[in-house]
Amino acid sequence: MMKPFAYLKAKTPAEALAALNSKGARIHAGGTDLLGCLHDHLFTVDKVVSISGIKEWSGMTGRPDGGLKIGCLTTIASIAASAVLKEKYAVLAQAASEVASPQLREQGTIGGNLCQRPRCWYYRGDFPCARKGGETCFAVEGENQNHAIFSNGPCFFVHPSDTAVALSALQARLTVAGPAGTRTVPIESFFLAPEKAIDRENVLEPAEILTEIHLPAPAAGARSSYRKIRSRQSWDFALTSVALWLQVDKGMVSQARCWLGGVAPAPWRAAAAEKLLAGKKLNAALAASAGQAAAEGAVPMRDNAYKVEMVKGAVEESLLRLLA
Ligand SMILES: Cc1cc2nc3c(=O)[nH]c(=O)nc-3n(C[C@H](O)[C@H](O)[C@H](O)COP(=O)(O)OP(=O)(O)OC[C@H]3O[C@@H](n4cnc5c(N)ncnc54)[C@H](O)[C@@H]3O)c2cc1C
Repeated sequence: MMKPFAYLKAKTPAEALAALNSKGARIHAGGTDLLGCLHDHLFTVDKVVSISGIKEWSGMTGRPDGGLKIGCLTTIASIAASAVLKEKYAVLAQAASEVASPQLREQGTIGGNLCQRPRCWYYRGDFPCARKGGETCFAVEGENQNHAIFSNGPCFFVHPSDTAVALSALQARLTVAGPAGTRTVPIESFFLAPEKAIDRENVLEPAEILTEIHLPAPAAGARSSYRKIRSRQSWDFALTSVALWLQVDKGMVSQARCWLGGVAPAPWRAAAAEKLLAGKKLNAALAASAGQAAAEGAVPMRDNAYKVEMVKGAVEESLLRLLA
């Protein structure tokens, strides 16, 4: 049976922050992940604080510098449908359109998508794994076909969020509010590798809320895309995904960003591929070499070496599509 908990629907940011500042309190945004976690006894709560009614944290507005502010409660569906995003930040709109199912996209929020808990079957199942305070990651010796090929351990889950990978390629900055005030965290520093923290996936302290996502103004000549490979074409998490952002000037790549999903406990930067692409004319041969470079450093486990080939192919294919 689920442990009883108190429930509060906050009406203002101040009310939400005050309500969260007590032991055992948790945020409820769309609830599509939180309720599953409680139902599966992944953790218990004393108080659930719904932030879904806070208008200040919903929707998108332009920034004075030409960038965009996205409130944490903006639904995945509205991000997928946004004409502005499709035109200026295609990688994010495409990633959002690949999240889960239409129903989950309508209910789920971008803040919740970034803060959702791992989907590893040992973590979600009835196993005392390292992430739940146990001594071992069962994926190391067990069923590891969906697990990480880039991880220093001790835990080998893959981060489940599609939008996290896209926002990494866009170099988003996140606003975090808490009892000590407000701080800005570059998305690159938001997610925590398991060797830094085994019991949480990001830098948020218990009473902190991710309130806003800020995108820089689109650069001249920039284009971007998101490619997700999954086992089935209905809802499913990524086996591998690629978020690409390129700035192209007279056919030459002046800057490249290449981030991978489905392969590591946090969005994974394919730095060798970025380095290879910068300053070169994009063609089929370069796309193939960048695909090879993107897989550098991968250490597959017994059943997931296929992801190494998937990374190579997905990066190459994404580059060729942007070239077309
Ligand atoms: C069947 C299924 C398939 C799915 N497939 C995919 C997929 O393919 N790709 C993908 O990316 N996702 C997928 N998801 C995950 C889904 O997208 C998330 O459940 C959803 O985005 C979470 O949003 P939410 O608003 O419902 O979050 P909630 O469930 O309300 O919250 C999720 C977690 O984040 C915390 N949280 C929520 N908002 C904030 C905030 N603003 N600041 C700090 N902490 C916060 C909550 O306390 C909770 O721990 C799937 C989920 C399901 C159930």
